[in-house]
Amino acid sequence: MTAGADTGFSTRQVHAGSVSAPATPRATPIYLTAGFTFSDLDESAEHFGTGAGFGYSRTGNPTVQAVEERLASLEGGDQAILVSSGQAAVTVALLALAGAGDHVVVSEHIYEGTRGLLLDNLARLGIETTFVDVSDLDAVRAAVTPRTKALFAETLSNARNDVLDVAAVAEIGAERGIPLVVDSTFTTPYLLRPIEHGAAVVVHSASKFLAGQGAVLGGVIVDDGRFDAAASGHLFPHLVQTDRLGGASYAEKHGPRARGQYLRESVAPRFGPSPSPLNAFLIGQGIETLSLRVERQSANALVVARWLEDRPEVERVDYVGLASHPHHALGEKYLRGGHGSVFTVTLRGGLEAARHLVQSVRLITHMTHLGDVRSLILHPQSTSHSARTVSERERAGVFPGTVRLSIGIEDVGDILADLEQALVGVPSAERETVVL
Ligand SMILES: *Cc1c(COP(=O)(O)O)cnc(C)c1O
Repeated sequence: MTAGADTGFSTRQVHAGSVSAPATPRATPIYLTAGFTFSDLDESAEHFGTGAGFGYSRTGNPTVQAVEERLASLEGGDQAILVSSGQAAVTVALLALAGAGDHVVVSEHIYEGTRGLLLDNLARLGIETTFVDVSDLDAVRAAVTPRTKALFAETLSNARNDVLDVAAVAEIGAERGIPLVVDSTFTTPYLLRPIEHGAAVVVHSASKFLAGQGAVLGGVIVDDGRFDAAASGHLFPHLVQTDRLGGASYAEKHGPRARGQYLRESVAPRFGPSPSPLNAFLIGQGIETLSLRVERQSANALVVARWLEDRPEVERVDYVGLASHPHHALGEKYLRGGHGSVFTVTLRGGLEAARHLVQSVRLITHMTHLGDVRSLILHPQSTSHSARTVSERERAGVFPGTVRLSIGIEDVGDILADLEQALVGVPSAERETVVL
């Protein structure tokens, strides 16, 4: 029995993609193997000709496939491709769309690894990027050129917790046949399903909320299966032209699934960031509790953000769950079941206050990661945002006194108690104002 599209999210997160023939293991087995035996010549030829069945783990593996089917179901997408990290997912997604001489329009508030990929690596391959403030729809529209092959943004940005107006940005792309690719790592399919709002491709770092326990890295690309050759074929000749031997194009063979199949058959296995079946298994296990964790993390985060907002040491809290956040109303439109668990708090005491806080927490872990069951803390200015200029950092909401929290599933009273003890001795102003 599998869970159909009519069943609820939490049902699908534990049942979708799982096999249940009689006497097969209930948990998805870990097919830790490089390849699979062929029963005869025809089967091996069939595998190489159409990719049907399993031949080699870089092109398909049953443990990986089970997780892919589960993620496609949760995102409401057509198919998912699991890869070895979130970076790999972003890279594979963009390389399926853009090549030398092409251009992409990207949110200026994105994960530093993605920003570096665009500025250093993809630039060397001849892919040019224009960074824009994606909350300014006119700026997005103005940045599009005839060479633009993708719009790219994160659903909920780090550090300012900006919410992407998915439908509005997708619409700008749709006017010209350009797909919107979103990194939905911070929102997970539990809080937001971008494909339902018009995004064409969704990527995640599965290392974060999907795996959930900080043990493995992984990434996923979910394609919506709505490629329209008539509207977009001119932008993506590799999807509509005959193959190297003059055979049918991806669009002829796969119709609206052309882009997804190109990702699966050409880009992911050739560039080669294959996931380990063991990691895939752990991501699959993680996903089974996704809704419970994100619900709890979001509820805890809201309590912690409200508590911090009232503290005298705190200058500002950028959490979209707070009514004070400029994107709170947009958050209400897009986010279901919570507002996520990652946000920043800026202390009045500046760098030294932030240093004191990250070095004084006991329960909360000082490390670079997010979406974990454990609460985590990091100082963005000196880490994730250190490669930006002061003005770029300020636009992203990163100041010397800013720390990023990723709230876990602990009892919230214990998280507050830890922050309270860690704030002891933190000055409530950068320099004490002497009142005469
Ligand atoms: C962590 C992260 C990535 C990169 O993922 P890895 O699994 O670390 O490679 C990409 N985007 C966002 C928003 C992330 O948080």
